Formats: sequence, C-alpha cells, structure tokens
Amino acid sequence: MTESKGTGKLLDIDSGKVECQVCKKVWYPPIRPDGWFTEGAFQCPFGCTETELIPNEHYQDTGR
Ligand SMILES: [Zn+2]
Repeated sequence: MTESKGTGKLLDIDSGKVECQVCKKVWYPPIRPDGWFTEGAFQCPFGCTETELIPNEHYQDTGR
C-alpha cells in the first residue's frame, strides 16, 4: 500500500498555510467543512516527492 502524504508542512493552522519542504513553495490547500485537509492537500503543486526530503550531506555545507 502506497501512501503519499506529500512534502507540504503546515506552517500556520489558522490560515492553512502549507510550505513544501523541498522547494519552499507556499500554498493554501482547500479545507473541508469538518476542518480537516482534503486528500492530497500536502502534495506539492510542483510535484516534489518525499524521496527528495532525504538529507544529502553536501546540502549541509551550502549557504554558509
Ligand atoms: Zn515542492
């Protein structure tokens, strides 16, 4: 069974702001009447996958 939760992370629960942990894209997924997110709400619109979240050593040395 494959479960795709997406790469999005909820930043602000009040506004429903979600940020992709891979490309840092921010979006606001639709919220159901019961207050929960729809299926696929945390899937990056750019198609990032969770495999890209695996930390790479050379990323740690960049940007400093
Ligand atoms: Zn992304």
